[in-house]
Amino acid sequence: MSACNSFLCAVPSNLRHSIARPVVFCDFDGPIVDVSERYYQTYRMGLVAIEQQHRLGSALQPLSKAQFWQMKQNRIADIEIAMKSGLSAALFDPFMQQVERIVNHPSLLRWDRIQPTAQAALKYFRQSGVRLVLVTLRHPRQVQEFLQAQGLTHLVDEVYGACDVRAAHANRVAQKYELLAEAIAQQQTQGHLTQNSWMVGDTEADVLAGQSAGLSTAAIACGVRSASYLQQLEPTELYSCLLTAARGVVKAAIPQAA
Ligand SMILES: [Mg+2]
Repeated sequence: MSACNSFLCAVPSNLRHSIARPVVFCDFDGPIVDVSERYYQTYRMGLVAIEQQHRLGSALQPLSKAQFWQMKQNRIADIEIAMKSGLSAALFDPFMQQVERIVNHPSLLRWDRIQPTAQAALKYFRQSGVRLVLVTLRHPRQVQEFLQAQGLTHLVDEVYGACDVRAAHANRVAQKYELLAEAIAQQQTQGHLTQNSWMVGDTEADVLAGQSAGLSTAAIACGVRSASYLQQLEPTELYSCLLTAARGVVKAAIPQAA
């Protein structure tokens, strides 16, 4: 693996010297991975830890998975979710510290699941001659481990990730901007085609980073944000999952392949 600077890690591709292909930039959590159960389990464990540390008995009332995920998808602030669960404002910071401490623990990463259409979508990109480049706030090692476990490594050409394992949960927009700009510049240097590139992702970080870089943007509503929330960001297109996005993006980026 190449050296890390402040946050960027690029995993060199075996296909680096292959012929120039049109590039599609794609996020990882959301379009490819369903993180909902891991985030929910982390939230539940965070509440239990605070309950025990502060001897609250069973004063807290965890939300159901459906309630929790609907709030996350509509970008309700974490403090509001915590207070709806019975946590006092004074205990919010210790709660979030606990959540951030454990969310990337291997015992919780096992809750991550592949999205139902992700494998078919990655195959579709490959068959269409697209170079698929992942741009994610996850650590590249976690990405590679997941792709390997799913047998998908050969369908992804390159991975740009964040060295800080806490970055993905925090979903920092500025960090995604910088990572995408770096990925575009490096793909161009390698001779790949980015003139008609798209940025595909499930949050405001993806849509805003893509817009800022002058790319077309495909928002995916099966991840951490709802369709109605994503629509307000005015992405080029809004899709229900990665497979419908792959078909639309290939059609727009490579008309002859559709
Ligand atoms: Mg995402």
